[in-house]
Amino acid sequence: MLRINLAAMAAALIASALAAPAQAQQPAPPSAPPPTATTKVADNVYIFRYANHQAMFIVTPAGVIATDPISLRRPAKPYIDAIQAVTKAPIKYVIYSHSHFDHIAGGQPFKDLGAVFVAQRNAKARIAALKPPDVVVPDQVVDDRRVITLGGTTLELLYLGKNHSDSTLVMRLPKEKIIFTVDWIPIQGVQFRGMADTYVPDIEEGLKKVIAMDWETLIPGHPGPGGKQTGTKDNARDQLSYLQDLSAAVKKEVNDGKSYDDAINDISLPKYQAWPNYKAFLPMNVVRYYDFWNRGI
Ligand SMILES: [Zn+2]
Repeated sequence: MLRINLAAMAAALIASALAAPAQAQQPAPPSAPPPTATTKVADNVYIFRYANHQAMFIVTPAGVIATDPISLRRPAKPYIDAIQAVTKAPIKYVIYSHSHFDHIAGGQPFKDLGAVFVAQRNAKARIAALKPPDVVVPDQVVDDRRVITLGGTTLELLYLGKNHSDSTLVMRLPKEKIIFTVDWIPIQGVQFRGMADTYVPDIEEGLKKVIAMDWETLIPGHPGPGGKQTGTKDNARDQLSYLQDLSAAVKKEVNDGKSYDDAINDISLPKYQAWPNYKAFLPMNVVRYYDFWNRGI
């Protein structure tokens, strides 16, 4: 009976949607499943995109290395389905990019399939302290470097120091010359809002280190303008230039005795004004650097 009623309701909803095409232009209701996509980057390397978040997964004959579950307040099933559409090999690992819940929540279905969870040591400590309800505690930790080899693929897990968090890994595939690292090297973007959890000026040192490494393709945790899913070393160079220009501009304001509001009003960085979040987030990025130059924090 319940099933019949649901079917009738669904039919009525579909009919009303068809009868009212204007509704298609309204925002999707919260219950609508977020869009997903699988993109092949190399023979054995894929991006799973879940709405505006991205995770890399690596397919080998001996099993799959998945990364961030990106399933905060939404099911992990589409990610697992996307992997299983490519291979039936078992998911051996889930590796967290850093400790932030919007990227790492929702891993339990991967755990139920037997995956081993790996993260930087500081991420495990953070998760253990905060006990977020939907985040699987890592089974294994990385300090500065670990190499995972599986089915002929080599993956390096590198900790370059503090940047967007104190637990960010750079995952590098040396043969494929691909890196996956999240939230600190956007494809043309200023830093997110107030740069919460970001270490200044450590992030600039981290960018110099990542630029000096051997790789060609960047997979970031979010697509860039126009839905672009991968970047290059130029994106890391651009981000370093942006932060250095921002830092110098804010330092001058502080040295001139200007206030937070003065700095926000005075500073414009036209070189970066085409980046999509420039107008919204530049003032908050200014405040982050103001605190660094004014108070050393
Ligand atoms: Zn983050």
